[in-house]
Amino acid sequence: MGEEGSEMKCPVCNESTIVEVKLMLDSSLVVMQSCSGCDSRRWIKDGDEVAVEGILEAASRR
Ligand SMILES: [Zn+2]
Repeated sequence: MGEEGSEMKCPVCNESTIVEVKLMLDSSLVVMQSCSGCDSRRWIKDGDEVAVEGILEAASRR
């Protein structure tokens, strides 16, 4: 073990099938991590995980 790679494991289903989508919202970099295994999603803004509600709110404020 002890593998540290760029592959991320899904915390839900423990699969290494995370797909990252990066986008800019309110001049902040937001990363959506989507698992192709269990379809769970995480949103990370400025390095912190945020609730999807906050992302949608920022997106609708334009
Ligand atoms: Zn998963």
